[in-house]
Amino acid sequence: ARNEQLSRFSGPGRTRDGVPVSLLANIGTAEDATAAAGQDLEGVGLFRTEFLYLDRASAPSVEEQTQSYLAVLRPFGERRVVVRTLDAGADKPLPFAPTGDEENPALGVRGLRLGRRGGSLLSDQLDALAAAAGQCAADVWVMAPMIATAEEATWFADRARAAGLSTVGVMVEVPAAALRAQQVLADVDFVSLGTNDLAQYTMAADRMLGELAPLLDPWQPALLDLIAMTCAGAGGSKPVGVCGEAGGDPLLAPVLAGLGVSSLSMAPSRIPAVRAMLALHDRDRCAQMAAAARAAADAGAARAAVMDLLDSEA
Ligand code: PEP
Ligand code: MG
Repeated sequence: ARNEQLSRFSGPGRTRDGVPVSLLANIGTAEDATAAAGQDLEGVGLFRTEFLYLDRASAPSVEEQTQSYLAVLRPFGERRVVVRTLDAGADKPLPFAPTGDEENPALGVRGLRLGRRGGSLLSDQLDALAAAAGQCAADVWVMAPMIATAEEATWFADRARAAGLSTVGVMVEVPAAALRAQQVLADVDFVSLGTNDLAQYTMAADRMLGELAPLLDPWQPALLDLIAMTCAGAGGSKPVGVCGEAGGDPLLAPVLAGLGVSSLSMAPSRIPAVRAMLALHDRDRCAQMAAAARAAADAGAARAAVMDLLDSEA
């Protein structure tokens, strides 16, 4: 019965009054791509490219990468595919790109920091991605993980554009990038909030420690404040996505839309419920939910405040 209810809604994500909120998939492999492409969704909001190479001893060549990316891009036809450059290090070490011994890997040389060390890790990947984009119809967007400063965003954008990629963005998953979103966005086309790491770094709570899960709750008002700040920095003129776990919480979806987020990326199975929640609420109502959640004292109270607003509709 629940599935029947959800299937009343289909097509692109939007609020009840028609504000678009793109519904996208998180994927990591060609198999994920094929499965997701067959579903009612607008494309990919996060392709975690490091998942292709976690067990590789040696770096993949440009040609090998080009073929891997084509296998992921082609199933989506002309849809958007947001490709994240290698997010190696910390919880996702790549054998061929060692970070060295680090006391605190989550605070270490990971993501773009590793790509910036030199060598051909990043340039090979950008070349392969540009080659793949040129051989298929997909709307390829590229973004870098673990950006902390506007200078890093600009550095990445320069290299991605020089490689021939046209839509370039960065992830906002370090509080510093959210605090200065306007400057971070100056030289890029879009940002995507990685709420898993943004929660980890905001709350100083290791995302791998189950004991700290309550601190990592995406309903934490501090996290919502940083998301709001990122949207304010974008000023409504550039896309702001969410691609962490928070993107797949149906109750949080209208809150995120109310904060100004323009796309949500998640495990494909979560899309029908998220689409339905958005379709049931006007933009103003979403903004009201966002304000109520941010005004709450803690994550539990934020959830309860939004539930209260939902109950008052019934
Ligand atoms: C995130 O940090 O929220 C994110 C989407 O990236 P990952 O989970 O791969 O670190
Ligand atoms: Mg992350």
